[in-house]
Amino acid sequence: MRTIWVFGDQCNSQISSLRDADPATDRVLLVRSMRKLAGKRWHRQRLHVVLATMRRFAAELRAQGFTVDERDASSLPEGLVAHRDEYAPTEVLAMSPMSWDGVALLERTGVTVVPNNQFACSAREFAMWAGDKKRLRMEDFYRWQRQRFTILMDGDEPVDGRWNFDAENREPPPKDGRAWPGVNRYPLDAIDIAVAAELDALGDAIFGAPYDGLWPTSRAQALERLDDFIEHTLAGFGPHEDAMLMDEWKLAHSLLSSAMNLGLLHPLEVVRAAEDAYRSGVVPIASAEGFIRQVIGWREYVWGVYWHWMPEYRDARVLAGTRSVPPAFLGAPTKMRCVANVIDGIHDRAYAHHIQRLMVLGNLAMLAGVEPGAMTDWMWASFIDGAEWVMVPNVIGMAMHADGGRMATKPYAGSGSYIKKMSNACKGCAYDPSARTGERACPFTTLYWDFLARHESSLRGNHRMRNQMSMLRRLSDLDAVRAQAQTTLAALDAGTL
Ligand code: SF4
Repeated sequence: MRTIWVFGDQCNSQISSLRDADPATDRVLLVRSMRKLAGKRWHRQRLHVVLATMRRFAAELRAQGFTVDERDASSLPEGLVAHRDEYAPTEVLAMSPMSWDGVALLERTGVTVVPNNQFACSAREFAMWAGDKKRLRMEDFYRWQRQRFTILMDGDEPVDGRWNFDAENREPPPKDGRAWPGVNRYPLDAIDIAVAAELDALGDAIFGAPYDGLWPTSRAQALERLDDFIEHTLAGFGPHEDAMLMDEWKLAHSLLSSAMNLGLLHPLEVVRAAEDAYRSGVVPIASAEGFIRQVIGWREYVWGVYWHWMPEYRDARVLAGTRSVPPAFLGAPTKMRCVANVIDGIHDRAYAHHIQRLMVLGNLAMLAGVEPGAMTDWMWASFIDGAEWVMVPNVIGMAMHADGGRMATKPYAGSGSYIKKMSNACKGCAYDPSARTGERACPFTTLYWDFLARHESSLRGNHRMRNQMSMLRRLSDLDAVRAQAQTTLAALDAGTL
């Protein structure tokens, strides 16, 4: 018999290696690698959803008649060796893994690899689109995806005459005290209880609150979450997708990324559902377009550039900082109200939405000069949807500009004023977002000017930074700001900020 090796982020019976499989001739291998479990200080909920999803998927495959070898091993290759020793398969087949190192592993171990079909745009198609383009602009890629899959198109034109509704979708948080849609929890069952007990044994090697049923761990749960999002939440997604509210962690975000990243949902079924909701008049175009842009635009673009620029990309270190991840990110108390709120959310749910990741965590890390690889690793381990293909472009490219602008044409650097505008965090904070010196100086604001001054020689030629650099030159108290920045950085390192 042949063996089909399925990885923990490929749990869908429609993946290319499984969709034509036959229980009479194919068995399935799932390996839980202890090396992976011990490889990072993972968030407990991240491990829970991966392990529970694998177990549920194994049970589904058994119900379809497959023999499933669920195997614990010290590493993935050792799991494969042990499986081959026990079952002597005629061939081991796998769908191409989601990571560069995973592909290399299969090449080394003589596994037959079939192309990955978990994205609308494969790595090969992305490379063809990229061709010899000087710049790989996400907007161009997104329009190409819309056209080739005829998503939100009227013939050759975008519906409603526009490709992009960002202008309507960047509003600050509403002040009307509105109620936001709720989110259901899935009842914990015997699989969850068994996984929780396994994770208890890891003690302090992992962190974060226990799994409470928030994140889907089966295709059925993921489909339920998708339906719920489309019906109750998508309409409100657009206008406030970049806003942050202290007492509302999810706003109208979909909470579908972990399900998509584990393979439980295919991106095309997600965007078709959103398009159907628009075409049936249930959601406005700005919300449907804003969400679809995130899925077949940004998400697929990130996947594409990961494969296009790896393996050198993960080592890019332009603007390279050398600091460790700040203690405030690792659980030390902090007076920075915006940071404390995001970190509390990560502890409780292994989640922060994209603007919290980019403009609070990534921004502070870049301004302070945190080492990009350390930041990538921390975010990969801390988020429910973490993976190398997600985190390398998002942290190295988008958040920290360590790729020198290959992905984003300017650094996403923001002072406290940006956070004040897009959130309600600053009211009640120990710091003042408009102060760059003095006891109440906001760390974001002080470090923002220090960052621009520190990197002036490399940023002054960037035309998109022209306004910021000319404001820097007009700053009358720059020496005092830079002196304050040294105090701020020392406090950040000491965990006393
Ligand atoms: Fe964050 Fe600064 Fe606002 Fe405080 S004042 S919440 S540290 S941006």
